[in-house]
Amino acid sequence: MTFSCKNHDFDTDICKKLKSRCIMGRRGCVLEGRVALSEETERLIAELEKELAEKRKARAEGRR
Ligand code: SF4
Repeated sequence: MTFSCKNHDFDTDICKKLKSRCIMGRRGCVLEGRVALSEETERLIAELEKELAEKRKARAEGRR
């Protein structure tokens, strides 16, 4: 199967919809819930969500 996503910036591998790394099937992705995820993809998603949570926390602490 070949899939090309209109949100994918091929130069940077960034998702223009989610404004961060393209990982097919991640939360908010157009493919969320429509594809089976490999263990490697699940690991990448967990890593990305941890990164994003840390950034949110740092931003929230910066506002105090
Ligand atoms: S994360 Fe999903 S919506 Fe975003 S560019 Fe990748 S395939 Fe497209």
